[in-house]
Amino acid sequence: MWIRRGNIMFENKTVRETCEELQTDSEYGLSYTEAAQRLQDNGANELKSAKKKTKVESFFEQLNDPLIYVLLAAAAVSILLQEVSDAIIIIVVVLMNAFVGIIQEGKAQKALDSLKKLTSPRAVVIREGKEQEVQASSLVPGDIVCLDAGCQIPADLRLVKANNLKVEESALTGESLPIEKNVDFIAGKGMGRGYKASSVPLGDRKNMAYMSTIVTNGRGLGIVTATGMNTEIGKIAALINDSQEEITPLQKRLGELGKMLSILSLGLCAALFFIAVLQHRNMAEMLITAISLAVAAVPEGLPAVVTICLALSVTRMVKVHTIVRRLPSVETLGAVSVVCSDKTGTLTQNRMTVEGCYIDEKIVDSSELKLREHSELLQGMTLCNDAVQKDGSSIGDPTELALLNLAGQYGIRRETLEREMPRKKELPFDSERKMMSTMHKNGSTNITYTKGAPDVVLKRCSRILIRGKVTAMTDTHRRQIQEAIEKMSSQALRTLAVAMRTGGNAPVERELTFVGMVGMRDPARPEAKGAVARFRQAGVTTVMITGDHVDTAFAIARQLGIVERQEQCMTGEEIQSLPDEKFLRKLDDVRVFARVSPEHKVRIVKGFKTKGNIVAMTGDGVNDAPSLKSADVGIAMGMTGTDVARQASDIILTDDNFATIEKAIEEGRGVYENIRKTVIFLLSSNLGEIMTMFLAVLCDIASPLKSSHILWINLITDSLPALALGVDENDGDSLMEEPPRKPKESLFARGGLACTCFYGLLIAGISLTAFFTVPYELIMSKGASFSISNIALALQNSDILMRAQTYAFTVLGMSQLFHAVGMRDIHKSVFRMNHFENKWMIAAFVLGFVLQISVTEVPVLIKAFGTVHLEFHEWLRLTILAAFPILAHEFMVFLQKPEKDVCNQVKMESIRIDR
Ligand code: ATP
Repeated sequence: MWIRRGNIMFENKTVRETCEELQTDSEYGLSYTEAAQRLQDNGANELKSAKKKTKVESFFEQLNDPLIYVLLAAAAVSILLQEVSDAIIIIVVVLMNAFVGIIQEGKAQKALDSLKKLTSPRAVVIREGKEQEVQASSLVPGDIVCLDAGCQIPADLRLVKANNLKVEESALTGESLPIEKNVDFIAGKGMGRGYKASSVPLGDRKNMAYMSTIVTNGRGLGIVTATGMNTEIGKIAALINDSQEEITPLQKRLGELGKMLSILSLGLCAALFFIAVLQHRNMAEMLITAISLAVAAVPEGLPAVVTICLALSVTRMVKVHTIVRRLPSVETLGAVSVVCSDKTGTLTQNRMTVEGCYIDEKIVDSSELKLREHSELLQGMTLCNDAVQKDGSSIGDPTELALLNLAGQYGIRRETLEREMPRKKELPFDSERKMMSTMHKNGSTNITYTKGAPDVVLKRCSRILIRGKVTAMTDTHRRQIQEAIEKMSSQALRTLAVAMRTGGNAPVERELTFVGMVGMRDPARPEAKGAVARFRQAGVTTVMITGDHVDTAFAIARQLGIVERQEQCMTGEEIQSLPDEKFLRKLDDVRVFARVSPEHKVRIVKGFKTKGNIVAMTGDGVNDAPSLKSADVGIAMGMTGTDVARQASDIILTDDNFATIEKAIEEGRGVYENIRKTVIFLLSSNLGEIMTMFLAVLCDIASPLKSSHILWINLITDSLPALALGVDENDGDSLMEEPPRKPKESLFARGGLACTCFYGLLIAGISLTAFFTVPYELIMSKGASFSISNIALALQNSDILMRAQTYAFTVLGMSQLFHAVGMRDIHKSVFRMNHFENKWMIAAFVLGFVLQISVTEVPVLIKAFGTVHLEFHEWLRLTILAAFPILAHEFMVFLQKPEKDVCNQVKMESIRIDR
């Protein structure tokens, strides 16, 4: 059993000493049982998060709000006036608000925690001699970890192997230039093989790699020396733990809108109070009413609604294989107008099989190779390969696995071959060079195999191997190879050339001997074609960006419906040669960018952005971080992506699938629509409440609602339907029929303002109608004339006033429930909506109705709210009146219908023409 003892300076130890100290073996690693034991003893390899708030702290935080102070003051005034029931209602409202707030906060925290788990890095570790991928949190001291370009270092490591290994340590040292690492032992200053404290600064410990830093180049192997809070980054973890939560642009805009509306409604309520004073009403009562109205009307919850909608959508997105790293990107997704996607693995399946080979001046089927005649090609593709196939499991790049599979069909295994011809040195693959080389011991000499993009490899070849003989490469050979590349590529095959060079002590990538070429099939994802078509319908342009050959890219892009003509393709070379102005003009038509390097991607993204688009961009490689960052929404690949790409991204696709982007955009649009619906609903309902009160006071009649009624409506009938709208299931088809919204579009655009005012006034109108019905009937029964002064007079009778207020209260509460149902889709009749899609709305509606009935039917509540019992026929009349928002909704849907149908027809026609 190994237990950590004090601070050991592993940089001052040799690899052997490190292994002895940590009781491990740099090739075999730890056994599973030992690793499990050490995990138990040392704890998980995680940075502890900052101290969490207690429930009591959260509770008091919720109460720390000016509006709550005002409400508490109103409660105090009520007690002074001996209106105990009002005071109780106010206090219940305050407490419920605080509890709802705590629950919401807890939910948001949970969502964030599970997000953290989902995005936590993984690591490739050697245990019992086998390479395997594990959660980085399960690493223990003594584990042997494999490092690759693009990976985030999962723990502190003493390096055992370093091939061109460069690590960017800015997270730790602030130094942004990558540091070249090696495995050499560093002597402690003034000591022999120092066991005492190292005086070597962190940045100079070249034989160590530290947690959270990033491999930018090369490959390596290291022994875990420290995990979790014992790592160097762990020691400063408290500093980096507290990352501030970001506020989304919409939240910000709503916050500002909320402030503006607050000032407006506070002004209105103050005006209401002063008018009431001038009218010599009961001042204390009017003060509480005005305060309650102000509390109800101030849309303080707007930013919270957005947070809830966004947070819930983040949870929903996980189900459709999308992890959202930054909340604001959900919002931006809804406005995306260009999606730039990688080809391999995103638009295609990344399941490669070699179909054909170009060897000895001709293209043959992959099954027609001859083991002895074509041994150099088979050996080259096997040795110059980093994929691992062991015990039925495969780890590595699908391109390389396809090569191992082909070699396997001829009985060649990498493990066996490497024992005969061990790898001595290597130049790892990078998407800039588009090739890789490995040097192997071959008897008394060395042999280097290079494999990579044929056009790149060909440029470095001066000889060619034909039927076992090496000859000088002529122009005819080059032309033949070029023709073979074009032929294979036009059949959508991904091509890869193999070359070799004998002798030398280091791999050199020039003066090579061309050995042969393979063509691999990577089938398009079946669902991608549909997604491209739906994107087009939704006004979103799909652009393919790939490192692959232009003909391969064109063939696949045409299959998927991204392009029709070859002229719509552009290569990295062309991008390089075009001046900005011409390049921007080309962007109108070009839909495929091939043989691009990562820096071109940034230019493409910026180009589309300059043209006013909101751009989503996928990426997986080490060098994709700049383009992911410059896109409006950076999308990293969860399966094949590097840690670097994941960290630079806004969202991660856990299935690397293009069609998932469509679902994410649909979700983004849906969330925006839900927020818009909720905001319009809340504001129109608030407007209804204010106008009801304001108009009555202006007419110098008794107030139609008591303060407790207003607070009740605000808490129960308003908030539940608003939340139900926030989580509404939108009709995906109709969401993806519209072009993307403009990024700066106001929530009140496209008729939103008119809708808010209309429903606000309608709700006020029907509530006042209900209020007037009681005095009206009295006036009529007495044969008096119907006038405002007679109504005012009739309302002086407290029984009449109580009944009239009960009517207004009931209609106002219920009309908002009906209004919420209509707001689910302002273009669709309620009879055509699928109400079971939104169970929350059904619950909010039923609960709202039951609660509204209980305030007039349950004796305790009748007493508390000062209402009266209503007869069945009264309920019937009031329900019909309250349903007016639905009638208005149906009428407007009826008016819109012909136009919408025509629009759809025109749209469908144009899609048919496009296809
Ligand atoms: P995409 O950018 O769509 O994911 P890609 O995988 O083709 O496409 P890169 O990874 O940059 O993009 O590869 C560019 C080219 O490099 C490929 O077309 C292929 O010819 C070559 N290549 C890819 N993987 C390897 C590899 N493991 N070894 C050698 N060459 C490779």
